[in-house]
Amino acid sequence: MEEVLELLGEGLEALGAEASASTQIRSEEEPRKRFKLINRNQLMIRPVDVEKLVEADHPVRAIWAMVCELDWSRFEDDVKVVEGGKGRSKTDPRLLAALWIYAYSEGVNSARELSRMCSHEPGCEWLTGMEEVNYHTLSDFRTKDKEAQDDLFKQVLGRLSAEGLTDLKRVMQDGTKIRAQASGNSFRREDTLREHLKLAQEQIEAMGSPDSEELSQRVIKAKQRAAREKKQRLKLALEELQKFEQNRQESEKASRVSESDPEARMMKQSDGGFAPSYNVQVCTEASNKIIVAVETTQAGTDYDELVHGIDAVHTNTGQTPEQMVVDGGYIKNANIEEAAERGVDLIGPVAESNPVASLKQRGVSPDFYPDKFRYDKQTDTFICPAGKTLTFQRSSRHDGRIEHQYRAKAADCQSCPFRDECCPKASPRMVIRKEDSEAVKAFRAKMQTEQAKQIYRSRAEVAETPNAWIKAKFGLRQFRLRGLRKVGIEAVWACLTYNIRQWIRLIWKPQLATVSAAVAGM
Ligand code: SF4
Repeated sequence: MEEVLELLGEGLEALGAEASASTQIRSEEEPRKRFKLINRNQLMIRPVDVEKLVEADHPVRAIWAMVCELDWSRFEDDVKVVEGGKGRSKTDPRLLAALWIYAYSEGVNSARELSRMCSHEPGCEWLTGMEEVNYHTLSDFRTKDKEAQDDLFKQVLGRLSAEGLTDLKRVMQDGTKIRAQASGNSFRREDTLREHLKLAQEQIEAMGSPDSEELSQRVIKAKQRAAREKKQRLKLALEELQKFEQNRQESEKASRVSESDPEARMMKQSDGGFAPSYNVQVCTEASNKIIVAVETTQAGTDYDELVHGIDAVHTNTGQTPEQMVVDGGYIKNANIEEAAERGVDLIGPVAESNPVASLKQRGVSPDFYPDKFRYDKQTDTFICPAGKTLTFQRSSRHDGRIEHQYRAKAADCQSCPFRDECCPKASPRMVIRKEDSEAVKAFRAKMQTEQAKQIYRSRAEVAETPNAWIKAKFGLRQFRLRGLRKVGIEAVWACLTYNIRQWIRLIWKPQLATVSAAVAGM
């Protein structure tokens, strides 16, 4: 060590000699330039005007103004300290909510990152009054009470409605897949999950007692907590697996669930790949693109989400939307009928059923597809290409339509020269006549009109705006938390933030500009 220091000393001396030689040369040629000294080896105390940390039109001022308008009594239930009483004061829920709203709008969804921001980022410093906020406090607040947070979303919606920003005449619903906090490799079958659960239990038992003196209590408790959480996740994974197994067809492969986030589901992504995700359903009113409902589901498709969307809008606003505009992923006859029953005008593309794939699979020749069979309305029979009669068998209701079955006589098909082309796998031949319900017929007719087509064309711009904001601007492409309840909370924070940003853009900033102009003119 001494040798190293000696060598270093010699090196520095040599460098110093070189530098002074260079200075001598420079000083002979021209006077040395002088610059301000950078002195980092000092302590400083300087006055900070907290109020002036942010400009007058900084979004934190608007966020604070909005949160101060809301009722926070639901967030104060567990606060025991009172003014004039003993105990440490709690952090104001308005401050915690404002910090999270600001964080989401800046693309930050980590409690640790937000806590760090409080020590140097002017917007956060202004909000906190330059006080530090512990990340545990931030993290606990974000996920503590889903119902209270849903109430917060409704309250903000109420404020926006009072300012004339929401109109439920036309609501667009769209779903977006957001990646779960799990990788595709974390999906396991039942045997592996049970094995891992056993290992987790053994790990917990093998851990030292928190009273042990060998390791610090904090370290042991942290390790035990991590192991317990892992065990809980594995138990939940087995429960989720049982749910899958109950619905699984015999022909389907054994189910697998993620041991990192058992409630996540493998979902098709917009790039065509599959990834563990949740499906976030967003209903946006068309006049100012305000989100009026947000629901997070485990459904891989949007087929069953329309009715939930209508219900969620009603829960949040007390009103049923007059018109719902959706893409083809929501259109099925049952949804068309349900919307009609609720008095909701549904706009969406008409789905045409295509039986060709199944006919091809059965080896039926195109010359014997159903359109080659002639229907006789008077006798309610079909005449096949060989001139034989198919008679009515029975009617059944399926997916919002009535299906009438007609069958040929077994003897006719058995002796028919076209049997291999017409019914190679199942004889005698059967034909189904589908009859749409009145609601479906009316929907189809409406969607042929130019007015309905024009409304549908405006869907993408409105419905996809909040999704694009949430993913591109707020950076919520992957949830930070795990489990349906917690990711649902994350989605609500993002949508709440989006709505407040819309209010800042449409109301707060124009009002501020008017006031500033009036002051300048005085
Ligand atoms: S197989 Fe039967 S239904 Fe088909 S063309 Fe022949 S008789 Fe008609």
